[in-house]
Amino acid sequence: MPTTPEKLSKYEKLSSLTYRRVMHLLHEEMNNGLSANYNLKADIKMFPTFVRALPDGTEKGKFLALDLGGTNFRVLMVMINERDVDIQSQTYLIPQRIMLGTGIQLFDHIADCICRFIRDHDLKNETLPLGFTFSFPCKQEGLAKARLSKWTKGFRCEGVVNEDICVLLHEAMKRKNTTSVDVEVMAVVNDAVGTLMSAAHTDRNCEVGLILGTGCNACYMESLENVGLWEGDFEEPSQVLINTEWGAFGDNGCLDFIRTEYDRELDTYSINPGKQIYEKMISGMYMGEIVRLALERLSMEGLLFESADRDCELFHKGRFFTKYVSEIESDHDDFFRNVKQVLEEIGVTNYTSEDCKIVKYICTLVSARAAFLSSAGLATIINKLEKPEITIAVDGSLYRFHPRFHNLMVLKIQELVKPGLKFKLQLSHDGSGKGAALVAAVAIRLRDSKQG
Ligand code: BGC
Ligand code: MG
Repeated sequence: MPTTPEKLSKYEKLSSLTYRRVMHLLHEEMNNGLSANYNLKADIKMFPTFVRALPDGTEKGKFLALDLGGTNFRVLMVMINERDVDIQSQTYLIPQRIMLGTGIQLFDHIADCICRFIRDHDLKNETLPLGFTFSFPCKQEGLAKARLSKWTKGFRCEGVVNEDICVLLHEAMKRKNTTSVDVEVMAVVNDAVGTLMSAAHTDRNCEVGLILGTGCNACYMESLENVGLWEGDFEEPSQVLINTEWGAFGDNGCLDFIRTEYDRELDTYSINPGKQIYEKMISGMYMGEIVRLALERLSMEGLLFESADRDCELFHKGRFFTKYVSEIESDHDDFFRNVKQVLEEIGVTNYTSEDCKIVKYICTLVSARAAFLSSAGLATIINKLEKPEITIAVDGSLYRFHPRFHNLMVLKIQELVKPGLKFKLQLSHDGSGKGAALVAAVAIRLRDSKQG
């Protein structure tokens, strides 16, 4: 683990001052998002989630959970008995034609998977409360009422924007016409929220959730007095989890001063040009592609891979995966075993060890920038909350599989937070399943305590 500032500076192409400027801009944008007057124009929507309380460890029950938003769709059965949680789950593929098809097709597919799961797990004739982890920006009007505000990542299904996704799910279940299978959606949850809930179940200091996966997002617990936007009740507890949707930071051009030609090119041919600018500099769906564009450029200019075949994957959009970046940076000696393996996989067969060195260097720069930019985001939230000790629950493939992301972030956040504030980055397990079930469980606990 790099422990000295010297090591950090090796990967640092943007100055500390620049990251502080990013923090300042983000803070302003977050405040705009929270304000009733400015929210409409703000890029960062700061959606109140209607989650008002964190789990306290007394939750119990059997739940269904759905997880949609990454590369796969999952159905889970979650049994919670106070601190014990048992999960059974099944993963289903979402073909690209469905990701880019109609909402009806998407929700029919989801309903199919649910019915299969219920049959396979002998859950017929039980009506289980369901938590739906739906990892896209939604404007919530209640815990179980969430309208999609826009698609992100690889999804673009027609006819879903502005619709209540619970209604779409119920309608799809009805179309299946099975009387023996019924679900009751208790809560729609963002994956950042699920991640936070899952870790908060065992850690009382946990008040921030972060996703570094296909996409990038954060959530945190905010006092109602700071949420000008809030239209719900003001009963205790006077706080609400805010799904920041900070991936949209920079959509108004405020990050242009740090974007590179590669960032711009990637954005131009993405399915959502001009949108999710901050996310596109950080998350797993894009990082590999940024590296690929830089390698392609160097190769075109004759500075890398002297005789690379122009038909190979290196010259094709989207063929250099972020997992390659993680693999390449896992090489710990100077033999470049993983670099070579990746190069062969993408069809580059003629390379020198100088080429390998350059490839690895570019990977370290692109991923360090991603780690530092997300650190600037987290430091903004940590400074805003000013808790003497705070835990940040983190999940997502990028954070899990990249060999140095965690360490780079810890160092950078240390540099950027106000003196005296202690923080911990904690990997959160199965936020999308356990977390969604816990939101449903907390909702039931609060409802029952009000009735009783
Ligand atoms: C979505 C967020 C989500 C994040 C991580 C973003 O593209 O807008 O809702 O939390 O990806 O999955
Ligand atoms: Mg996920």
